[in-house]
Amino acid sequence: GQGLMKGRRGLIMGLANDKSIAWGIAKALADQGAELAFSYQGEALKRRVEPLAAQLGSDLIAECDVSDEVSIDGLFDAIRQRWDSIDFIVHAIGFSDKEQLRGRYADTTRDNFLMTMDISVYSFTAVARRAAAMMGPGGSMLTLTYYGAERVMPHYNVMGVAKAALEASVRYLAEDLGKDGIRVNAISAGPIKTLAASGIGDFRYILKWNELNSPLRRNVSQDEVGKSALYLLSDLGSGVTGETHHVDSGYHIVGMKAVDAPDI
Ligand code: NAD
Repeated sequence: GQGLMKGRRGLIMGLANDKSIAWGIAKALADQGAELAFSYQGEALKRRVEPLAAQLGSDLIAECDVSDEVSIDGLFDAIRQRWDSIDFIVHAIGFSDKEQLRGRYADTTRDNFLMTMDISVYSFTAVARRAAAMMGPGGSMLTLTYYGAERVMPHYNVMGVAKAALEASVRYLAEDLGKDGIRVNAISAGPIKTLAASGIGDFRYILKWNELNSPLRRNVSQDEVGKSALYLLSDLGSGVTGETHHVDSGYHIVGMKAVDAPDI
């Protein structure tokens, strides 16, 4: 690594396994010298997260269920015991009832709507407020979103509505925290096969569609999201805030793909 993140400390939220987007991001940051803390959801994930954190030289890991304010406070207490300040956070968390990531958006229940918004949207704001209290100028925050926020994608349903709200919250947070020199951005990643993605109906078809129809004619990897995250979280992105940056092989710019083979 070249040390773009040397001397910078940050929290990675949403690591479940080595397929997680959070893992691609954590590796890119650690490779450039970042010092990392990790939060995991529930004891069952601890035995997965602990060895991954250790691979990147981190033993600062703490449990956090973002639907619980007390649990979020506990996470920040644990971090404050080791660090007196923090330079960045990565929020790679989303959740909805799998049964409603198929079928019609129109059938979303009130309970699942509220839970999806709570875990996938409000949690970023709740974490941002606490992180900002430990951050100085140059601080940077990042969350993960998807094109289903902007356009209707099959089966994404209430998650698309939640991501639209998440992207709006990135803009409001960017304005609030910008006065203190803190930047807030989102990466809109193309489809990637992860644990969360496997809950979405027909996910393999979505992957294939993006591969065939994006300008680069392929899907993106966790590591490519990691490289863009490095830009937004390091000084390279110092002039960028409130942005939703697409890392999707260019899929979002296409109205209709040109025919690759002639004479059709
Ligand atoms: P993943 O399953 O590896 O990560 C999702 C994480 O959310 C898990 O670590 C899980 O523990 C955590 N989580 C869920 N509920 C939680 C709660 N109540 N408290 C704390 N943590 C909780 O899947 P991923 O695809 O890496 O997802 C990371 C982010 O990327 C999500 O916001 C997802 O919507 C977004 N995203 C994914 C894709 C894709 O195709 N995989 C595309 C665009 C955006």
